[in-house]
Amino acid sequence: MISDDIQGIGMTSQRTRDRLVERLRDKGIRNERVLEVIRTTPRHIFVDEAMAHRAYEDTALPIGHGQTISQPYIVARMTEVLLEDGVPDVVLEVGTGSGYQSAILSRLVPKVYTVERISGLLQKARDAHRRMGLMNVFSKHSDGSWGWKPNAPYPAIMVTAAPESVPPELFEQLAVGGRMVIPVGSRGGVQELKLYTRTPDNIEETTLELVQFVPLLDGAVP
Ligand code: SAH
Repeated sequence: MISDDIQGIGMTSQRTRDRLVERLRDKGIRNERVLEVIRTTPRHIFVDEAMAHRAYEDTALPIGHGQTISQPYIVARMTEVLLEDGVPDVVLEVGTGSGYQSAILSRLVPKVYTVERISGLLQKARDAHRRMGLMNVFSKHSDGSWGWKPNAPYPAIMVTAAPESVPPELFEQLAVGGRMVIPVGSRGGVQELKLYTRTPDNIEETTLELVQFVPLLDGAVP
């Protein structure tokens, strides 16, 4: 039954998920709402069945097409940083991937827009969102470097693939007072996780920590 596999057994059980949340707490995640949403979101439905037994390890896992579902600590950290100043009405995510990060966001903010360049991944992410009954995630198959202009400006933008420098369109689509969390740096190497906040006449940059993301690539692929 679908509800049974969302609930999980053995390596995907609630106890296993509780242990993951304890680990995130030990690593410094403080936002209790974020921790609660991670505790109650089935990460195993966002990975292939063969990987399901590892879904509650604090590690990135392959999701096909050479891409990965982000490490839970990074999902928690980026979410916590985005929400630090209050809950935005809407978030734009670039890099839907498995759809796990957008599912976490969708339980914390009213509306999530997410963009993915690989159509096969987007289809699977949409299926997982449907299985969870999420109604507030809107997704598009496109190159997210261009943002998602008709719904801009955004009070919050999260980019989950790393460009060498921030695409200017994303700065343009960030609202005044808005926050953008994004890894920036060289391909295949280590990147810096940055927080950009937009003031009326400036953009302020803070470096949070070193991270390793797949690269932000040009163009949509079928
Ligand atoms: N947030 C995802 C992380 C997936 S990895 C999750 O929770 O699983 C990063 C994703 O970004 C990959 O799926 C990759 O295909 C996508 N990506 C890379 N460049 C992109 C671009 N220019 N536009 C949209 N998506 C992109």
